[in-house]
Amino acid sequence: MSVSVFPIEAFNDNYIWCLRNQTHCVVVDPGDAAPVLAYCKDNQLTLSAILITHHHWDHTGGIDALLVSFPDIPVYGPQNKNINQITVRLSQDDNLELPQFDLKFSVLEIPGHTLDHIAYYGDIGLFCGDTLFSAGCGRLFEGTPQQMFTSLAKLTALPADTAVYCAHEYTMANIAFAEAAEPNNQALIDYKHWAGKQREKNIPTLPSNIHRELEVNPFLRCNSRELVKNVSQNIGATLISDQATFASLRNWKDNF
Ligand SMILES: [Zn+2]
Repeated sequence: MSVSVFPIEAFNDNYIWCLRNQTHCVVVDPGDAAPVLAYCKDNQLTLSAILITHHHWDHTGGIDALLVSFPDIPVYGPQNKNINQITVRLSQDDNLELPQFDLKFSVLEIPGHTLDHIAYYGDIGLFCGDTLFSAGCGRLFEGTPQQMFTSLAKLTALPADTAVYCAHEYTMANIAFAEAAEPNNQALIDYKHWAGKQREKNIPTLPSNIHRELEVNPFLRCNSRELVKNVSQNIGATLISDQATFASLRNWKDNF
């Protein structure tokens, strides 16, 4: 049975990604149980596992209620002991197999947005939580710019055609900032046009892919001459490295 990936919308702009076959499903970052339970009921699916990327409530808040309806299913997640429902704690390069879906993932530790943040990468795609967004990246709540820069480099080292499943629909807001950083990026201009049409029809802009993100995402383009010039102007100083550009760019976005 083949597996497909569906977005379950939650809160204002979260996507709880649901990997499903005809009878069973797995969800990534269920911040809210209600829409997941409704989706399972409507599609007559049994939940067989939960995957967690990091500890924030809008990614974990639904775990308890899901376990009431589907007791004893495994909950995969990071080492962070504060997420007490996790039954299988994962670290860098751990492998995760879901044989009933014929799915395999390897685990990437990607600190920055939070220190416990992990991603799941497999043939079906990359589930990167709040680290990489389309045309943007997560805020640095716990980690340093250097950590986030390194984490994003881990993700962009994946094959260019890797589908990227981000946990929020932030694309249009991210594009507005990306335009300020790199207004003459033609790929970004084209992407804004496409993404705007998607959102008008209320269709997700996700999944993205690594190739596209390398073309449009300012946080992955700290070697772009136009971007460096604009970031440098914004802070009124010369930038000495891609990492320094990244740190200033992230700071600029926080105040945008
Ligand atoms: Zn988060």
